[in-house]
Order: sequence, then C-alpha cells, then structure tokens
Amino acid sequence: MSLLDLYFPKHCLVCRRARAEKTTVLCVNCAANLPTQNYGRGSLNQMLEQAQLNKEVCHAYAPFLNAGENGGLINVLYQLKYAKRAFLARDLVALASPGLDSFFEQHQFDVLAPVPMHFTKIIQRGFNQAALLTREIGKRYALAADPQLLSQLSRKKSQASKTRSERHELDVHLFKANSVRAQRYRHVLLVDDVFTTGSTLGACFEALKKQAVPEVSYLTLFYTPLEYAAKRPLEL
Ligand SMILES: [Zn+2]
Repeated sequence: MSLLDLYFPKHCLVCRRARAEKTTVLCVNCAANLPTQNYGRGSLNQMLEQAQLNKEVCHAYAPFLNAGENGGLINVLYQLKYAKRAFLARDLVALASPGLDSFFEQHQFDVLAPVPMHFTKIIQRGFNQAALLTREIGKRYALAADPQLLSQLSRKKSQASKTRSERHELDVHLFKANSVRAQRYRHVLLVDDVFTTGSTLGACFEALKKQAVPEVSYLTLFYTPLEYAAKRPLEL
C-alpha cells in the first residue's frame, strides 16, 4: 500500500469495493444507504430514552445507527480510530450533516465538550477521536468547543476487556470538570463517537453536574441499540 493510498483510499471504506469517486470515502451505493436516524418530531429516539433512564439529560442524538444491514459505516470510525486516519472525522461529520442540521436547528448550546481521553492514551493513539469530531462539528455549525472542560483522571480498563455489567458501572470519579470553565456554561453538549451503554457519557454528565452546570445534552455519531449491543463486540 502506498502512502497516497493510505490518505486517499481507493476502496469504499464500508463495502471495500473499488470506488471511482474521488470526492468521498464511500462508493455511491453505500453513500445512498447510510444507516441514518432522523431527528425531530415523529422520530423514535431510543438513545434519549436510554440516556434519560438514570440521568436528567436534556437532548440526545446520534445521526447513525450501528446496527442492521447498513451498519458497516462504523468501519469508517474504526479506520479513524485504529488506522489513525484522523482526516476521516471531517468525512463522517459531512455524511452526518442532514441529521446534525436538524438537531442544531432545534436546539441551542453554549459549548461543545468532547469526552476526554487520558493523556497517556492520547500519546499512544496520537489523538482523541471525540475531540476531532467535536472540532469538525464546531467548525461546521459555528459553535464554540472547550476540549479542556473535562479531563480523565485515570486510565480506565478497555471497554472491550470488561463484562457487560462492569461496563454499566463506570467509575463516576473517572472524569473531572474544570470548575472555573464550568461556570461559564448553561448548556453543555457532550460529544463522543459511539453511544452503547451510555456509561462514559453518564460519568461525564455527573462530573458536569458536580460543578453545577444547569443543562447537559449528548451527541454521538453512532448509537448502538441495546438489542445489538448484546450480540456484537462493542466499542473497542
Ligand atoms: Zn461501498
């Protein structure tokens, strides 16, 4: 594989077939069959229901479902995370824009805050994918982002190596919100890549509430419905 091929892959990142288009990382067929979830009145919002089970989350949304026949789009996220193709953050946000447009038309937020990553992991991976997504979303919708609002205090066990019940019991002291920064905001939109159990976002929610942030909402790129989460290997 040439370096050029790494940065400008010639194959569709979902179906792996060769693709002629140079403007997108997906072939025409995959781009036309995205696992999109609409936002707004009349749309089922399982993620919000799940998030609101134990937290008073204002709004929650993921433009894509990590499930079903068109679930292959998550491969693009894996390419971003594990193959270190950071440029894919922009592509994913662009693909998600129809849903994101309606989400941001309907709600106002003071700031976007990525789910933080422990600094040793950032050194290892080279970047925090949630921070990259936050930056792209902020640019596209002209919203301020505060990547320093939250920090991760210790390095947690990889989600993949845990049992399901352990995943639900993420340590609430894992994250800390900066008290000075937190005072500036009335409504914080937390941003992450995938919502599965919601435990990571829930722990960030608690950290913000501890600093008396009045309103907190969630935005992730993908939502893995519970019935799929039980069958599939989860966020790695
Ligand atoms: Zn394809």
